[in-house]
Amino acid sequence: MIENMELEKFNKLYEGKAKELWETSELNYLISYYKDDITAGNGEKKDTMLRKGILNQNICTIIYEYLHEHKVPTHFIKSIGPREQVVKKLKIIPVEVIIRNYAAGSICRRYNLPKGHKFKTPLLELFYKDDSLNDPLVVKDLVLEMEWATAYELQEITRQAHIINQRMVEFWKQYGITLVDQKFEFGLDNDLNIMLGDEITPDTQRLWNKDGESLDKDVFREGDDLDEVHSVYQYIYDLISKETEMTDGC
Ligand code: 5GP
Repeated sequence: MIENMELEKFNKLYEGKAKELWETSELNYLISYYKDDITAGNGEKKDTMLRKGILNQNICTIIYEYLHEHKVPTHFIKSIGPREQVVKKLKIIPVEVIIRNYAAGSICRRYNLPKGHKFKTPLLELFYKDDSLNDPLVVKDLVLEMEWATAYELQEITRQAHIINQRMVEFWKQYGITLVDQKFEFGLDNDLNIMLGDEITPDTQRLWNKDGESLDKDVFREGDDLDEVHSVYQYIYDLISKETEMTDGC
């Protein structure tokens, strides 16, 4: 069982804005390493926030373990250190799924919507995953035409995204936090099972407290105080960790 195996980093497969993916001795498993880099606007705004990788790795582990308890298939296997997780190797579908419970961010700018408008049902949008194009909004027909995903894959990622969104709304509600929106990436494992990949953290979700204050990467997108960003990520970790002990390497 991979859960009981000690895996070591082998070759770096990919380096993204917030994480690195490393091959391991096990072909179908990777190590995901969380960096301290924080970016916004497709990397236009960039900084380094000490311990950000540790906080996000720990937050993501708690969320993935919660999703597993609710039988949601994800690439997550286990956390193996302050910044590292063992994950299944996926062939990522190049279509990002954004699901919105309230209007904020790009949808407000695109359609001049009032921030905070509550959608009657969660609103799902597809974006073509291509940094050189700034991940543009894409319609289903083009996804099918260009074979970025099959009809079955689209149907499945849409179905899973709505279920995960519902679970995550319930998760945050118990802490008095409103889940505004979130981004998902899905992929296929070696047996062609479709499942959630990447991360779920305050980098990929918008979270508001009861006063409508941001507890996520918007604090960085809209401000310059890295200490404030850090205290927000730390606050989120403290809130959800309860008796879980943080892996911080100390
Ligand atoms: P928006 O479309 O308003 O910029 O983003 C909607 C939601 O998806 C937000 O929670 C935002 O954090 C997340 N999101 C959208 N695109 C990306 C991306 O490229 N990287 C990350 N980390 N999150 C994204």
